[in-house]
Amino acid sequence: MAKQLLGKEVTAAINEKIRADVAKLTEKGITPALGIIRVGEREDDMSYERGAVKRCETLGVSCKKFLLPADVSEEELLKVIDGVNHDDAVHGVLLFRPLPKHLNEERIINALNIEKDVDGITDGSLAGVFAGKPLGFPPCTPKACMEILDYYGIDCTGKKAVVVGRSLVVGKPAAMMLIKKNATVTVCHTRTTDMPSVVREADIVIVAAGKAKVVDGSYLRAGQVVIDVGINVNEDGKLCGDVNYEEAERIVDAVTPVPGGVGSVTTSVLVGHVVEAAMRKYL
Ligand code: NAD
Repeated sequence: MAKQLLGKEVTAAINEKIRADVAKLTEKGITPALGIIRVGEREDDMSYERGAVKRCETLGVSCKKFLLPADVSEEELLKVIDGVNHDDAVHGVLLFRPLPKHLNEERIINALNIEKDVDGITDGSLAGVFAGKPLGFPPCTPKACMEILDYYGIDCTGKKAVVVGRSLVVGKPAAMMLIKKNATVTVCHTRTTDMPSVVREADIVIVAAGKAKVVDGSYLRAGQVVIDVGINVNEDGKLCGDVNYEEAERIVDAVTPVPGGVGSVTTSVLVGHVVEAAMRKYL
């Protein structure tokens, strides 16, 4: 049976560091704060928001919400972003996407001050990931995958890693982060031929395809570490990952469950970034 790589263990370690950093800021009279900008009322966004607000509260980080109607104009939204950019009481910003179609998402995202881009969505933050420089912040989900590898002492040096998915939010930055950890990285996507044999070659597999159970036992072999980023709802209305967990746990060495894996770590990474943004500014 595979070892379960549990998000809550990694989260506990990250939260401990966050609490220590918040204490340092509190000594200087600073309360780190997350600004949340949400356009409309998508259930996915509201669910992530509830989790983030709760985690912030537990860790001594305050939240300021900017809730806008789904038909908000681009000018109005840009005005809100300009406001948070200049608000010294907001240290990091979470802007939910996708934005409604009538808004120019790229223009809006890049209006955000990179120093407050704690979700790693601006071109500047992504350039930081690709250049290996501390510009802005890396996207939280691939960073959460790296935190899991680090926490469980999984050394990537010289290992073969495969990332399934090439989105700018998860797949591509995850590949860059694995390269930084000295892995030899292959990225699979919808046009990859014979994906099972490519994935079977890997020592470390990160799956972010957004398709329920797309990676099954035929993709896997003994000795692998599998990180499942996917969040899907199965036929029974239950959450499941992009990996067929029941098959994976019988084959590989270690695997993250869904729920209980990457998701909860992502939220702590976000809160950690807010605290780091405040520390970069004041300490
Ligand atoms: P996306 O749809 O933007 O990208 C999916 C990528 O996977 C694409 O590059 C596509 O080419 C590739 N892909 C799709 N089907 C494939 C297949 N059958 N074989 C190979 N490649 C395939 O999705 P995303 O935003 O990168 O998210 C991926 C998954 O991660 C989703 O399930 C999402 O819900 C989840 N997610 C989880 C967290 C978290 O914190 N755990 C955060 C963000 C996203």
